[in-house]
Amino acid sequence: MDRRVVDALRAIVGPRGLIEPGTRALPYESDGLAIYAQRPELVLLPADTAETAACMKILHDAGVPIVPRGAGTGLAGGATPVAGGVIVGTARMRRVLELDVENRRARVEAGLVNVDLTHACKSHGLYYAPDPSSQQACTLGGNVANNSGGPHCFKHGNTSQHVLGLLIVQHDGTLLDLTAPRLDPLGYDLVGLFVGSEGMFGIATELVVRLVPEAPVVETFLGIFATLEAACDSVSDIIAARLEPSALEILDRLTIEAVEASVFAAGYPREAEAVLLVEVEGSEPEVAGCARAVRAILEQRGALSVHSARDAAARKKLWAGRKGAFGAMGRVAPDLYVADAVVPRTKLRELVLRTVEIARAHKLRLATVFHAGDGNLHPNICYDRRDKDELARVLAAGDEMLELCVQAGGALTGEHGVGLEKQQQMHYLFSDADLRQMCRARDAWDPARRLNPGKLIPVRVCEEMRAGSVPEGA
Ligand SMILES: Cc1cc2nc3c(=O)[nH]c(=O)nc-3n(C[C@H](O)[C@H](O)[C@H](O)COP(=O)(O)OP(=O)(O)OC[C@H]3O[C@@H](n4cnc5c(N)ncnc54)[C@H](O)[C@@H]3O)c2cc1C
Repeated sequence: MDRRVVDALRAIVGPRGLIEPGTRALPYESDGLAIYAQRPELVLLPADTAETAACMKILHDAGVPIVPRGAGTGLAGGATPVAGGVIVGTARMRRVLELDVENRRARVEAGLVNVDLTHACKSHGLYYAPDPSSQQACTLGGNVANNSGGPHCFKHGNTSQHVLGLLIVQHDGTLLDLTAPRLDPLGYDLVGLFVGSEGMFGIATELVVRLVPEAPVVETFLGIFATLEAACDSVSDIIAARLEPSALEILDRLTIEAVEASVFAAGYPREAEAVLLVEVEGSEPEVAGCARAVRAILEQRGALSVHSARDAAARKKLWAGRKGAFGAMGRVAPDLYVADAVVPRTKLRELVLRTVEIARAHKLRLATVFHAGDGNLHPNICYDRRDKDELARVLAAGDEMLELCVQAGGALTGEHGVGLEKQQQMHYLFSDADLRQMCRARDAWDPARRLNPGKLIPVRVCEEMRAGSVPEGA
């Protein structure tokens, strides 16, 4: 990279905020999907919005591709560097700028770790509801870019329903301030458009988010099942009965074994084929009514036993296994391919079993743990990426699973985004005309297409548009 550009950037962010290729840059070569790795030309960690804007202006003028990055916990290659590109990370921007308790809002920097916002407002009886299982590490900016979900998004909605405003550094370093409180939104919903844009529309440096009051009563259930099917059927029954728990999560046998052998052990019985976690929250009568109905459904579906807890420490223990499940899988194999798709909840049993069959046909080990209430499947394939044949089978199985879910009326991703991983599969769900419209939206934000190029939209579609081989308006 041109030394004059590097020196100009160093003058802005200082030595702490600039990492040149070498050992310190290694962690930035991929996100959580380590099969795609690329050396960044440079890693920049600006300390605030002004530094981010100044860096973006220099990079824009130098024509350098830019990949925004939070904590790098993404699982679709979204924060993976692109050839010749620079990483601009938010790791040094992690302050809570304002807690507006009366209006239940917070203004925060984008690099704030998700769970730290809840820690910051807990003493006011408030919390930040979207809770990805990576919430101890992932940033709120990354959550916005991926429209992340989590166990409790079943009741409270994904990130998009909790973001009220954004301060965005645009492709050329100019600022777009969308943080002013708007009681009744007017005009285009630019904040809504930005959420889920996977780092291709700009870098969010500040966020205004909604805070949720803690429920007076919370009860967590753990249903133990002899079959995965019975756990899936219980979820379909709970939905069909119009009950509204706040979370519905399933873990299968291999996951239970891994969790129980790890530091996240939650006391799940190792002989169970599946466990179902159900959380119910609200006033005492609401919780009591819903809890009775949930327990009855689990028992009708043949649960071997049903445990419940209201005490915060006991509930935390029940959740420990779910929250630590991905980490615990490191005991099974060196790598974990976390597939992510959404299916209609009436088809949970059928599609979960089909993913098990697909894994078996490819001679792969599958561990399933998922946000069952949202129909958000995570068939997790345990493998070793150094084994090229096994890696090829993993990718083939993942592709088959995605196609199956889409054919069943589902979607390509529930929460992890498209990134590098699924851009070639976007046509399972979208026509070329749909994809071109996405490309036009991207061009409106970043005409030179230097922000996170090669992600989300299939490169072929963008190139055809650029080459002018597509008629105007098609
Ligand atoms: C163990 C584990 C469990 C997980 N569980 C869940 C889960 O339950 N639910 C879920 O939704 N996800 C989950 N994930 C995936 C991941 O944690 C989320 O996608 C998370 O939102 C990524 O945040 P991050 O800060 O790590 O972002 P990164 O991985 O650094 O980046 C993700 C994307 O956001 C872009 N980006 C990052 N910051 C900004 C910014 N400030 N402005 C613009 N673009 C930006 C990047 O370019 C990239 O495209 C899990 C991951 C792991 C490893």
